[in-house]
Amino acid sequence: MAALHLTKTFPSFDLYHIYDPSIPTIGVGEGTTPDVQHWLHEMTGVDSELLQQRCHMTRKYAIRFENWGPSHPLFMHNFYPVGQEYAYHFAADELVKLLQEYVVAQQISKRVDEIVSDGVSATIVFADDSSLQVDFVFDARGFPPLVEEEHLLQSAIPTNAALIRQGPPTAYQRATRSVARPHGWVFIIPLLHRTAYGYIYNNTINTPADIEEDLAAFLQTEGVPIKGEPRQLTFPNFISRSFFDGTVFKIGNRASFFEPLEATSISFTLTQLRVASRWPLSLMASSGQKPALSEHNIATVNRYLYNYGRRLAFFIGWHYAQGAQWNSPFWHFAQSNFEKAWTEETNQDVREEFQHFWQNALSFPHPVLAPDNFAAAIESLFAAIRDSEMQEQTKLFPRQRNDSKFGLFSTLSFAEVGQGMHYQEVAPSTT
Ligand SMILES: Cc1cc2nc3c(=O)[nH]c(=O)nc-3n(C[C@H](O)[C@H](O)[C@H](O)COP(=O)(O)OP(=O)(O)OC[C@H]3O[C@@H](n4cnc5c(N)ncnc54)[C@H](O)[C@@H]3O)c2cc1C
Repeated sequence: MAALHLTKTFPSFDLYHIYDPSIPTIGVGEGTTPDVQHWLHEMTGVDSELLQQRCHMTRKYAIRFENWGPSHPLFMHNFYPVGQEYAYHFAADELVKLLQEYVVAQQISKRVDEIVSDGVSATIVFADDSSLQVDFVFDARGFPPLVEEEHLLQSAIPTNAALIRQGPPTAYQRATRSVARPHGWVFIIPLLHRTAYGYIYNNTINTPADIEEDLAAFLQTEGVPIKGEPRQLTFPNFISRSFFDGTVFKIGNRASFFEPLEATSISFTLTQLRVASRWPLSLMASSGQKPALSEHNIATVNRYLYNYGRRLAFFIGWHYAQGAQWNSPFWHFAQSNFEKAWTEETNQDVREEFQHFWQNALSFPHPVLAPDNFAAAIESLFAAIRDSEMQEQTKLFPRQRNDSKFGLFSTLSFAEVGQGMHYQEVAPSTT
């Protein structure tokens, strides 16, 4: 994504695209948000038909939550306007190949041992002892070794592992399904040629064998024949304390990771690319060389991305606040875990903003409960938001489309998810 974004946005740069073909990409990340769809078309001009042929793309209008919370066996988290805006599901490995065709860069197929940066330039040291000096690096090497001084774990999220299986294509292709199960939840991502199933769980509470057994039971109730070998993955939920040091910009899983419940990773990567493009890359492009960068602006970029990521993680963790329609060790843990994260949250801005969004969301009829009023409610909300909070964005950063957001999420998202799970606030005495 970064190589393509730079190719198209800054054609005057000399680019090196470095990766080690013996280290595969993670191969998951098949559900997206609408911003990724818009970016993809802007960068490549590909049409839907080509994406269907090459990447087995289907359109995603929402996430369909099943068995979450105590009250509604089903609720939707839509993209807005409902039924019009959509994102894509696509085959991750095929998308990587497609994007590569639009990249204009010198390809270097080598393992990087180290990136040594003094904040002005960086030396990339390869495993064969050769090196390369550059002005700017996007470090996209996937999950880093976690270090307390550099990374902050996101404890609001109660999961850390996934079991992935593939099945045949399914008839329901309009949304990602997110089905709460006794030990976690299962994503169902429909592609044209196959369906990806991912059981997300906590491996300190359940064993891989528990998960294989329950996924098999679930697939049986769905009438899905099991195909191929299961794939087990573990993941940390974390955010980098600093994304950019003046030369090295960490992006993707290198910079942060939160479990895939809202499919936020690729979108957050895109936000990182846009922030870097807005500043400092545009400054480098216009001056024809790397100028001295202001420490103040470096700190502002870091603060913006850090705060944005913290809000994403908090919103994802919030989904677990009311448990699910299962009485099990995992759901007891997940529910109390969010309550603990909320009571221990020391960042007053996150707490106040969260409460502000939730209070606004409470005045909205939820579409599950009042579908007829929902369209009118959306209109009045957009009007109110346009007039107020939109003004507060600083000009360094990409403007959100028509809305004020908590990370990626608007008041409408708070209304659908919060009312869908029947959120009951943590008692004020404990906050
Ligand atoms: C179970 C699960 C489900 C997910 N679902 C979604 C989803 O639905 N939507 C979503 O947006 N995200 C999802 N994600 C997140 C997904 O992982 C990211 O969106 C994205 O794929 C990460 O890409 P990346 O390029 O940062 O890292 P990777 O895919 O890990 O790529 C790292 C690259 O760096 C190269 N590399 C690594 N080390 C070196 C080295 N030393 N030298 C040279 N090259 C190196 C490798 O060759 C590779 O090409 C999911 C994650 C998990 C675990």
